[in-house]
Amino acid sequence: MENCIFCKIVSGEIPSSKVYEDEVCIATLDINPAAPGHTLIIPKEHHQDLTDDVDEKLLGHLFKTAAIIGARQKERLNAEGFNVIQNNGEVAGQSVHHLHIHVIPRFANDGVLPLWKPTEPSMEELGAVKDLLK
Ligand code: AMP
Ligand code: ZN
Repeated sequence: MENCIFCKIVSGEIPSSKVYEDEVCIATLDINPAAPGHTLIIPKEHHQDLTDDVDEKLLGHLFKTAAIIGARQKERLNAEGFNVIQNNGEVAGQSVHHLHIHVIPRFANDGVLPLWKPTEPSMEELGAVKDLLK
């Protein structure tokens, strides 16, 4: 895909801090990490986001790779846990329109903000949304 920064990282046209590669995907450090070790899992195949007709096998592979990287963050960086985050659309924080998964190592008091503030909808409000989504 022309002018896609992640396609260029995959092809090697743009340098990156690659920590993992197989036939399907790469994992590389985020240049603006939320915490040290923040890694992006990037499929070699270009897909805009999760709704872009993504093969089930590819999705499984990406999540399996996220688990491998998360385990490494715990073992080698002494992370106590990790977040797996995947943004779709600019409103959701997506800035690079090539499907990818963030794996963010977590440490006590690391200052990484929670993604949402919990709300308290009524049963009626929950029910109305349920009817729309089911
Ligand atoms: P998102 O906002 O979910 O689309 O995530 C895109 C991520 O890619 C951001 O966290 C950026 O910091 C990161 N990023 C952008 N350009 C590069 C690059 N050249 N190498 C590594 N990470 C990058
Ligand atoms: Zn791409």
